[in-house]
Amino acid sequence: MSGIRPTGFLHLGNYFGAVRNYVRMQEEYECYFMVADLHSLTTHPDTKELKENVHRVLSENIACGLNPDKVALYCQSHVYETSELYLYLNMLAYKGELEKTVTFKDKVRQHPENVNAGLLTYPVLQTADIILHRASFVPVGKDQEQHLEMARNFVKRFNHRYGDVFPEPHAFNFGDELVKVPGLDGGGKMSKSENQYATIYLSDDDELIRKKVMKAKTDNGPAAPNSPRPDYIENIFGLMKLVSSTEVLNKFEMDYNNCSIRYGDMKKQLGADMVQFITPIREKAESIRNDSKYLKEVMEKGAAKARKSAKATMELVRQAMGLNYF
Ligand code: ADP
Repeated sequence: MSGIRPTGFLHLGNYFGAVRNYVRMQEEYECYFMVADLHSLTTHPDTKELKENVHRVLSENIACGLNPDKVALYCQSHVYETSELYLYLNMLAYKGELEKTVTFKDKVRQHPENVNAGLLTYPVLQTADIILHRASFVPVGKDQEQHLEMARNFVKRFNHRYGDVFPEPHAFNFGDELVKVPGLDGGGKMSKSENQYATIYLSDDDELIRKKVMKAKTDNGPAAPNSPRPDYIENIFGLMKLVSSTEVLNKFEMDYNNCSIRYGDMKKQLGADMVQFITPIREKAESIRNDSKYLKEVMEKGAAKARKSAKATMELVRQAMGLNYF
């Protein structure tokens, strides 16, 4: 089970941190993937662009290879049981631990004028989404590690107080480690909501992709053979690892180690490889986005599957909590 907020176009971070794993998981697991529209209200209360954004995220997920016939692909707000479970879990979540969450502190810094209770309890809503399907594996990027730890704490508390209903959820990745795709400005991570120029979107056209890559920070190159790589250079190699061939990567690693690297050439190659990777996804997503009848069918089918699983879980929850009085 996993979700992405409809707060803008998807980017390479979303793809390599999350969606790539969704696509592989669909072959082996029973999967629930949602557009987290309720979560987006914590920071984006204006709903004018929400419908368009929901359609975008759905189209981009499908264009990346997610098959709505294999998985439940749905919209968070279409499954009302989420709100009920969120309410119960809120009684098991403490103000102190919520205030210590890194993402909460970041958001408070970014939006000091809108520190709402939904923002504080974001990890509680996220836990409700996950355990509503009694999910064990949550494909997410590295930035979500702390939220998953909190989800396990809430689950342990629930199970301890009311009986064993939920498995403990864990962050999941097919590789060894969770992924963090860095921004092109050398710091932070690619992100939907901040850092527009440091982020490569799956919707960027070829020209823009090349331009963004060419602007990535570099320097005069290493002064001595086999020097350690500064963070911003390491990031460029990291991005190359994601989209380029091993031969290309090896060539530039060798060039770096023997001090003959030309960053202009490296960025040109990286830009070309990114264009090759993104163009087919962008074109497919565009055509799906224009088919609103198809998207409606996807959402309805996904919601029906998700509601069925949610309903079964909530019966167990009410029973365990002693909320059945008949
Ligand atoms: P954003 O931070 O761009 O608004 P979301 O919060 O909707 O994205 O996250 C959706 C998924 O994408 C999560 O699983 C998150 O871990 C992953 N993700 C987001 N940014 C990155 C990144 N730069 N590197 C790796 N994974 C990321």
